[in-house]
Amino acid sequence: MPYVSIKGKKLKLLIDEERIKSRVKELATSIETDMGESFIAVGLLKGSFIFLADLIRHINLPVKVDFMWVSSYGSKTISEGHIRILRDLSMDIENQKVLLVDDILDTGYTLKEIKQILMLRKPKVLKTCVLLDKYERRKVDVEVDYTGFRVPDAFLVGYGLDWDEEGRNLRGIYAVEGL
Ligand code: 5GP
Ligand code: MG
Ligand code: MG
Repeated sequence: MPYVSIKGKKLKLLIDEERIKSRVKELATSIETDMGESFIAVGLLKGSFIFLADLIRHINLPVKVDFMWVSSYGSKTISEGHIRILRDLSMDIENQKVLLVDDILDTGYTLKEIKQILMLRKPKVLKTCVLLDKYERRKVDVEVDYTGFRVPDAFLVGYGLDWDEEGRNLRGIYAVEGL
């Protein structure tokens, strides 16, 4: 293994590269079938960028890509309970099919608020996809159309997810031990 610690904390492998790969393919197949025609994939920065990149390469439809950058944990590991848009979409989504993609669903505030904001722009369809679901920590009800893995309540890094900007390049998903 290339490295198994960040800032002196040990990382425990939770989901390896191969499992991620095959699950991402399954999700892509469902999304392709359900969408059935061209759509805009909207990734939430920064955490979703690797997942989104892998996902869309398994979808055989015309896909446009856009990103939205919303406030995240930063160097803290507790959610503020609300989100802030740091950079908005570059595209107009009115009357378009949209797939909103995020790395992980935790309290649910982020996805719920972004969904509401995007719905005001009148997309033809708005579907949501998250790679990971920390279901035990949900604070608000939010419907998600596609979920990769249900995961335990731990702080996770890798495959795009960071700990204070480190660890995004890890190929698997890891739990930070002793936080
Ligand atoms: P929520 O608004 O659902 O509480 O939080 C969702 C956002 O929090 C995710 O998009 C992600 O940026 C961040 N987040 C939640 N849990 C984790 C985690 O275990 N690891 C990392 N790196 N980010 C997380
Ligand atoms: Mg995020
Ligand atoms: Mg982060």
